[in-house]
Amino acid sequence: MATILFTNIAIFDGTGAAPYRGEVLVDGNRIAKVNADATPLDRRGADIVDGGGATLMPGMVEAHAHLSWTSSVDRIVNTQTMPPEEHLLITARNARVTLDHGFTSAYSAGSLGARFEIALRNEIDGGWLPGPRLKASSIERAPGVIFGVPQAHDEGHGRGVAAMRAYIKGCAELGLDSVKLLLSGDDNFTPNGSQELAYEEDEVEAAGAQARESGIWLACHAQAAAAVKLGVRYGFRVLYHCSYADEEALDLLEAKKAEIFVAPAIGLANAAINADPSFRLPKALVERGHRILDLQMKLVPQLRRRGIRVLPGGDYGFPHNPIGTNAKDLHWFVTQLGYSPAEALMAATKWGGEIMGMGDELGLVKEGYLADLLLVDGDPTDDVTILQDRARLLMIMKDGKYHKAPAASHTAA
Ligand SMILES: [Zn+2]
Repeated sequence: MATILFTNIAIFDGTGAAPYRGEVLVDGNRIAKVNADATPLDRRGADIVDGGGATLMPGMVEAHAHLSWTSSVDRIVNTQTMPPEEHLLITARNARVTLDHGFTSAYSAGSLGARFEIALRNEIDGGWLPGPRLKASSIERAPGVIFGVPQAHDEGHGRGVAAMRAYIKGCAELGLDSVKLLLSGDDNFTPNGSQELAYEEDEVEAAGAQARESGIWLACHAQAAAAVKLGVRYGFRVLYHCSYADEEALDLLEAKKAEIFVAPAIGLANAAINADPSFRLPKALVERGHRILDLQMKLVPQLRRRGIRVLPGGDYGFPHNPIGTNAKDLHWFVTQLGYSPAEALMAATKWGGEIMGMGDELGLVKEGYLADLLLVDGDPTDDVTILQDRARLLMIMKDGKYHKAPAASHTAA
């Protein structure tokens, strides 16, 4: 594999610190050297990339990916329901689109096929299909059919402790990384659905116990405060939304802050609020978007004060918020949730590496770390919106290989 030296760059290293001038040497799939002082790195045998003052930063991590949700910027698909063959191909395309837009990792928040993401992850890891590093999720399940949740190609599980244990064990045996359960409903599914619990407590407890035994992660959709509490109590590692968390739920989340992650997924609410009238979104959907956003704008600052990791991304894949526009979340984190641009970037990179379970080797520009890197035209710590413009991603590297090589003008030594 090649040795590549990036010079004439500003380095945003993912920690949240201000960018600094330096050089970075990539050897094989890892970052071999990072230099912040004026002494040039040894460049013998290396391909040289002259960044022309652009910013080198870690690849972003989508914390709440639904690659099998069908719409992307490359192709809008007006249904989530189709035969599995078409659906899997669309899912594979969406993985590539995600990487095209600077997301070199994706933590899945649920699939519409039980084995879609196993097949996809293995193809990507083998280097045979383009896509981000992927933590593969189970189908997104709650008991029975929930209106508003796209129908998956596979059945989930039966009710009760034994059925839940068997389901979690089966997911682990399939080779999934994470099981997603809908612990609460959602107002987008049914009126007041966000306050309805989908499971009995003993079922959630059984899921937690079996997940620990089987060595698989748990993620949950949790809107109601009671759902958040169940999730935290029984060992769910990733808690999505949490919009109605109360003081007790916040205390529980804080007590487990070293182990858990929260991703509010406010992109969908913003997409509904800002959708072009031609989408003819139901008025109620837009009103619910405002309601969720109001709740999240109060909640997230509290989560942050308590030191809980809140990550951008989530629920992209509808026609009005297609996959590929995921970097919008960073902008909402800055304008609506009180993050500075550098903090939003840190959440998408350093904490992203941590949600992937790879915090000791992913998400930073640091010696020894995996070479998942972006070269960005401009300073994203000044303006995160530039990350929404694909043309400003001058180079996308995953695992030391170019997904998008820098233009020839940058490679003249
Ligand atoms: Zn979701």
